[in-house]
Amino acid sequence: MDIVCIQTCHNYNEILLREKIFTLLEPLGGISKFVCPGQKVLLKPNLLAGRPPEAAVTTHPAIVKIITEMVRDAGAEVLVGDSPGIGSFEKVAAKTGIARAVHEAGGILEPFSCTRAITTRGIFRSLELAVPYLDADVVINLPKLKTHEMMTLTCGVKNLFGAVVGSAKAGLHLTAGHSKELFAGLLLEIAMARPVALTIVDGIVAMEGNGPNSGTPRPLGMLLAGENPVAVDTVAARIAGIPSRLLPVEQEARRRGMAGTELENISLISDIELTTATPPFTLPDGLDVQFGLPGFVKKILRNYLTPVPVANSTLCTRCGICRDVCPPKAITITENALKIDSGRCIRCWCCRELCPGQAMSLKKGVLLRLLQRQPL
Ligand code: SF4
Ligand code: SF4
Repeated sequence: MDIVCIQTCHNYNEILLREKIFTLLEPLGGISKFVCPGQKVLLKPNLLAGRPPEAAVTTHPAIVKIITEMVRDAGAEVLVGDSPGIGSFEKVAAKTGIARAVHEAGGILEPFSCTRAITTRGIFRSLELAVPYLDADVVINLPKLKTHEMMTLTCGVKNLFGAVVGSAKAGLHLTAGHSKELFAGLLLEIAMARPVALTIVDGIVAMEGNGPNSGTPRPLGMLLAGENPVAVDTVAARIAGIPSRLLPVEQEARRRGMAGTELENISLISDIELTTATPPFTLPDGLDVQFGLPGFVKKILRNYLTPVPVANSTLCTRCGICRDVCPPKAITITENALKIDSGRCIRCWCCRELCPGQAMSLKKGVLLRLLQRQPL
C-alpha cells in the first residue's frame, strides 16, 4: 500500500520547516532511506518561470535549501535542475531565489540542456529526457501544488515534464496536446521511464485559479510526501477539492491499472484529519467540458466545448513568447495585432501559461458557458 505523509506547516521559516520536513519524512524511513553516502542526488523543483517566491509559481527556495542540506548531511552530492518553460535556467533560478538557496546549502545548479533518448514500454516508445535527470543515482521530486489550465492539477506527476528539455516540450504538446487523455498518458510514461525515489510537495502556499503561472496564491499550510507521485497527487487533489473526473492524469492512471489512484488504498499519515480545503480550490476558467465524450464527438464539437485563447490588446506587449512556444504555430504577430488561428490551436494553453504579462485570456462560446453553469 502506498504511504502518503502530511504535515501542517504555515510558513517558510527555515527552523520550523526543517523540523516539519524531518517529521514528514520519518514514517517513510527518513532521508537516509532514500540517499546513501557518495551518491549523486538530483532535486527537481518546479522552476516554471522567473517569478518571486511569493507568486507561488515555483517551489519555495527555503524547501529546496533544506532538502539540499538534508541530502548533503546524508553524505550525497546534490544537483538541483530543471528546464524552465520560459527563460534561461540561470535567470529563473536567480529570480526565484533558488540559486541562492542552493549555493548557501552547498548544492550545485544543473541546467537541463543535454538529452538522451530512452525506450519505454508505453505509447511513446522513445522519450528524450535530460541527461542529469537520467544519470542521477537518485531523483527527489519537489513540486509545487497548483491548479493547471490543461491538466487541472500540477503536482508530483506533472512536475516531471520538466525533464523534457526546451523546445522538445512544444513538440510533445503538438504530438499529444490535442487530447488530454493522451497528454496525461505521456506524463505518466515520463514518470515511469525514470522513477523518482521520493516526492515532497510544497503546499504551504499553493496556487488556485488560472495556474500554473497566472493563478492566485492559496495559503494551504501543508507539506506532503510519498514514494509514488500518483498517490501523492491523489491526496493533493482531494485536499484541494478537485473531483477525480476533472483530473486527466488520475483518470488515465486508473485506466492503466496503476497504483495510487484510490484514496482508500493509500495509507495516510498526517498530523491532522484529512479534509477538503474550505472553500475548495478555484479551478482554472479555461477548463472545458469534454470529459467522457467519445473522441470523434470531441473533435466535431471542439470549437463549441473548449474556449479559445485571445490576447488582451491593452496588456499584450507583442513580445512574441506565446508565438514562439505555440506548438502548432497558430499565433502570428504583426506590428499592431496578435492573431490566433483557432482551427490550428490545440488548446494546450502554453501561451497562457507562459505569457509574462497575463495578457492571454479566454473566449467561451454560448454552449460552453451554458454547460459550465452545471455544477462540477
Ligand atoms: S506572450 Fe503575452 S505579451 Fe507576449 S505576445 Fe503573447 S500575449 Fe502578448
Ligand atoms: S494558441 Fe495557445 S492554446 Fe492554442 S495551440 Fe498555441 S499555445 Fe496552445
